[in-house]
Amino acid sequence: MADHIRQLQIGAFDVHVISEGVIKVHTSQAFEGKDEALWRPHVEMDADGRMNYGLNIVHVKTEHASVLIDTGIGDRHPTRDRTEERFPFIETMSLLHSLEGLEISRLDITHVLTTHAHGDHFMGHTILRSGERGATYPNAEYFMMEADFTPKKQAKDSPFMLHFPVLQESGHLQLLPETMKITNGIRMIHSPGESPGHAIVEIESEGNTAYFLGDLFHEPLEIRHVDWVWQGRDQEKMIQSRAELVGMAKEKDATLITAHFPFPGAGKLREEGDGVSWEAV
Ligand SMILES: [Zn+2]
Repeated sequence: MADHIRQLQIGAFDVHVISEGVIKVHTSQAFEGKDEALWRPHVEMDADGRMNYGLNIVHVKTEHASVLIDTGIGDRHPTRDRTEERFPFIETMSLLHSLEGLEISRLDITHVLTTHAHGDHFMGHTILRSGERGATYPNAEYFMMEADFTPKKQAKDSPFMLHFPVLQESGHLQLLPETMKITNGIRMIHSPGESPGHAIVEIESEGNTAYFLGDLFHEPLEIRHVDWVWQGRDQEKMIQSRAELVGMAKEKDATLITAHFPFPGAGKLREEGDGVSWEAV
């Protein structure tokens, strides 16, 4: 299997973590307002002060469904270019090519889940073909939390307005008012904080559990420091959502998969002092 794809077995489900590349995030942004003595020794940064974030996407094959969780950065487009001005991106391989390599046709995908409406998680939702934009996964239903569907708050030339209205008009988009079962063994759990409608995804089969965490944690230091929250996020809700996940993960000895930890971004929580730490798997 390619170096940027990792298979995990969760009960009867085949789970693939697919890296689309690396996002260069400035440490001043990731650790704004945090004590440098606590983060500096643990962080590798380049000459510009940027650190590497992963961009991990998950595919789950269940008995009856082919589920994609987030769709990555998508095709070249001015909205993507503007995102990359702030967060430079080094692509390993596009998600569509990686899926082809796994012999997963985009036509076979039955469910596309959006952890939250930040561009790096949905810019692959639609694609331009023969001059017309449409669902990249035309046979799938697309799910997201209603609280993140905010077209009135979005700039006209934003990634949001490029992708979501198209999906809504074509009838692909399902907005969820709260935590919901998507298909057997897959649940979207409302975990606000990073955004109002941020969700994590529970993957459960034969007594084994994994959670795809989206941006509940951006990088491993936030596991140890659960009160480290990016500026502009809802700190109180984020801390509460993190505490709920930690409780569920400990109870189920769950495997956790993250969107932005270095590939494959998978690990487990270990008790450490009065909190937990991250053990990559
Ligand atoms: Zn993100």
